[in-house]
Parts: sequence; structure tokens; C-alpha cells
Amino acid sequence: MARSFLAVEASMSSPVSPVQRRSCVPVQIGQVIVGGDHPVVVQSMTNTDTADAIGTAIQVAQLARAGSELVRITVNSDEAAAAVAELRTRLDDMGLSVPLIGDFHFNGHRLLTKHPACAQALAKYRINPGNVGRGKKKDEQFATLIGFARDHAKPVRIGVNWGSLDQELVVRMMDENARRTEPLDTAEVTREALIISALESAQRAEELGLRHDQIILSVKMSGVQDLIAVYRTLAARCDYPLHLGLTEAGMGSKGIVASTAALAVLLQEGIGDTIRISLTPEPGGDRTQEVIVAQEILQSMGLRAFTPQVVACPGCGRTTSTTFQQLAQDIQSYLRQQMPVWRTQYPGVENLTVAVMGCVVNGPGESKHADIGISLPGTGEVPVAPVYVDGEKTVTLKGEAIAVEFQKIVDEYVTRRFGGN
Ligand code: SF4
Repeated sequence: MARSFLAVEASMSSPVSPVQRRSCVPVQIGQVIVGGDHPVVVQSMTNTDTADAIGTAIQVAQLARAGSELVRITVNSDEAAAAVAELRTRLDDMGLSVPLIGDFHFNGHRLLTKHPACAQALAKYRINPGNVGRGKKKDEQFATLIGFARDHAKPVRIGVNWGSLDQELVVRMMDENARRTEPLDTAEVTREALIISALESAQRAEELGLRHDQIILSVKMSGVQDLIAVYRTLAARCDYPLHLGLTEAGMGSKGIVASTAALAVLLQEGIGDTIRISLTPEPGGDRTQEVIVAQEILQSMGLRAFTPQVVACPGCGRTTSTTFQQLAQDIQSYLRQQMPVWRTQYPGVENLTVAVMGCVVNGPGESKHADIGISLPGTGEVPVAPVYVDGEKTVTLKGEAIAVEFQKIVDEYVTRRFGGN
């Protein structure tokens, strides 16, 4: 039997609900707060040798200016630890207060003991329970790391990674599983081991004197479905803020798509308080790409706004030149380049939408939905480009200077709408 029109209509009109963030305890890192009611924080990690304080300061500055609100650095040697205070000073001298997070593995207890200025200059320590030490030394070295965090009033991230999962814990849990009447499969035990490693380490840190609101957790895996499953479980079992990231996401579109697929599901469920996109850059590639991808995930989902959005059609057989692709790219680059200044000069400009469309089919309609839109002429159309501002057609551009004139219209709109006068 055919469904009634009304039934079909009702099923098509589900309201869009805002994301309900999971409740958690806020943690302060320098001037940045992660968790609680605070927006999801974007972070990134350098790939310079931290011992090179100048080179690392340059990259941290690039990441911070691109919008990274926290930056993690490797602290793996005496030379690296010795450079951290100088790095902090250089950033302060540049007017950049972005908090620095020290990433410690294997020798963090020794480096913090030997380099108190490093312990002080860092805003947070990342501790991997799988790489703290073995046997009796593990507990001692973990206690030393937590002692520094407690005494310097620094938060920590207990960052478990399945590539470096605590092997003593895994063996213990596999043995326990083997004794069950209905043993779980290995993947399930591994996921549970990540969660137990994070939660037991957090509990131990609190027993050692760290406050509950000084702890952030992460349990990173490289498989999308594994990551979603493990974070859902972790989120239900604690109220620590969660750092999200798909570890070893990979290069280019694969890394971007895999990270987005995993993080979007979790963020939509309100899980995740800070995110990092672990992209492998092209040789000599721009490290800031991971910041831009993180921002674009959050902005596409309507969770935060960072930069004006360009809506552009994909083009098709109705576009026979690259004019509109070029214009879309130029406008997108121009808007992003302006943001360091516009962010302070024109509050709210990050919510602007600009449409650049290839022909009359969807051009006028999409342009009317945007704050400013331009509908370029497709094949066989009269070579004119109507411009729409706040849904109204205001002018029709033509000739060689369409791109320049459109950019001028965008500038004037931004000044008028967001200039505050
Ligand atoms: S707006 Fe026109 S050019 Fe763009 S995809 Fe649609 S039909 Fe093709």
C-alpha cells in the first residue's frame, strides 16, 4: 500500500538538533580551557627537532597563527629539554602565548628531573603509560612524572596508543580472557586494555596527588571503527576531558577522510574536547594543514567557526573554462589570509559565507543562500556574473576584472557588516 503524502513529509522534516556535549570536568592548560562547556580545542604537533629552538619557534608560530590553540613538542633528549625554556621565551617575545605541551616517552622522568626550567616552561605533560618503563621501574618513573606535574601545578594527558600499549597489562588481560568460559576476541581485549591502561593510570595519578581536574585522557588507534568503539566506551566510564585523534592517519586525502570519518561520528555524539589530526605531510609539506583540517571538521559540523566559508559547485559540462575554479580558489585563499587581522578587527566575520557558482542552474539560488554570492556564466550563457548580497541581486559584473571587483565587494561587505561602526 502506498504511504500517505503526510507520512512521507513527516519523515523528511526531522529537526536538526544541536550536539549535546558529554559532561566532563574542565582542565586549564595555560590560558586555554579544555572540557566543561568550552568549545572543542584545536591542537597540533611540531615535527622539528626541539633542540633547534629557533626552527621549532618558527614552526610553533606558524601553527599558532594558523589557529592551533595548543602545540605539542617532542621532548626526547637533554638537548631538546634544554631548549624548551628558550623556545618559550622566543614565543613570548613574538607575542605568542600558545601553551606548549611536552611529549615524553621512555626518559621523561630523567629529563624533567635534570631540566627544571623545561618542567616549568611547559603548560602540560603528555605521558604514555606504555612507554614509562618496565616492571618496578614503571611505577617509580610514572610517580616521578606525576610528581613534577603535581609540584608545578601542570595538567597531564595520559595518552595511550595501541602502537605502544603497556605489554604487561596486555599479557595480564589476555591471560584473564583465556580463562573465561566465553573468551572475547583479541580486538575486543586490546580495546579494553587501552581503556584500562588510561583509567588505571589516571587513578594512580590521583593517588599520587594530581587533582581530578588536571587530567585529560586519550586512547588512540589507527582504525576508524576501533577508534569510535573505544572512545564511546571510555566516554561512558569517566568524566575526564577526552583528546580525540586517529593515530597514524596517513597522507593526503586518505588521512583527511579517515580522520574526519572517525572524529565526526564521535563529535556528533558529544564526545571529544580537544582534537588533533595526525596527518603525514608531503616531503617539505606545510605542517599547518593539520590545523586547517581540524578547523574545517569543527566548522563543517557547526561546532565552531574559524574562517569564512566558500560554497562552490564542483563544475560540470556546463563550465568549459577554469574561471570559476580559479575564482573560488582565489577567494578562499584571500579570506584565509585576511583572518589573522580580520579576527580582531571584524568580530563575527568567521561566520561569513561566500558562494562561487559555475552557471545559472544552481548559481542564483545558492548565491542567495550565502551572505555574498556570484553566479558565473556557464557555456553558452551571456558572459555576465550577477552578484547577490544578503539574498538580493545588487550588481552584474562582466569583463576581465570580475575577480578583482568581486573581492572588492567582499571587502566592503565585511567592513560594513562586521566593522562595528
Ligand atoms: S551550478 Fe552549474 S556549473 Fe555548477 S555544477 Fe551545477 S550545473 Fe554544473
